[in-house]
Amino acid sequence: MEYPKPVQNLIAQVAKLPGIGKRSAERIALHLLKANHDTSKQLAQAILETKLKIRNCSRCGSYTESDPCEICQSPRRDQAIICVVEGPNDILSLERTAAFGGVYHALMGKISPLNGIGPEQLRIAALVERVKREKPSEVILALSADVESEATAHYVGEQLKLLGVTVSRIGLGLPAGSALESADEVTLARALEGRRRL
Ligand SMILES: [Zn+2]
Repeated sequence: MEYPKPVQNLIAQVAKLPGIGKRSAERIALHLLKANHDTSKQLAQAILETKLKIRNCSRCGSYTESDPCEICQSPRRDQAIICVVEGPNDILSLERTAAFGGVYHALMGKISPLNGIGPEQLRIAALVERVKREKPSEVILALSADVESEATAHYVGEQLKLLGVTVSRIGLGLPAGSALESADEVTLARALEGRRRL
């Protein structure tokens, strides 16, 4: 016997989530089916509310309810040190280390010719404009350790050096090929501290 259509649909939707295979999706869907009405409703509401209320900060790209975000508005942060990361998840990872007191700029991806992503699809032009406008004392490139991130860091570094701004790159104690967001807090804090000037 097949599941009724709505259940099949729920399983299909859950199976699209990262790290969830078909079997797990089925288990989650059946759990929700069995759970009381409130559980399902709260989950559905939390998903909708997140999508409605959370946006990307127009300055740094972080996830925020208010624009500009708290970090961009904070007088306790050094607004003249910009840390460039690939995405908002990396900002969350770096914030957890509590080792960085500056501000961020998320590129929203990395240069990836195989996936048809060139520099113009990323927030690189916005970064160049921001550096011209804000004249930061330092720009730190905190990208991952895989080949595409390396190429992106190189490209962005060259663009920024033309502007005469001090550019540094985090010293990667990360294993080759690994993503910044998968690094633990101590490794990240150390990488930030061991940054080298380009
Ligand atoms: Zn921001």
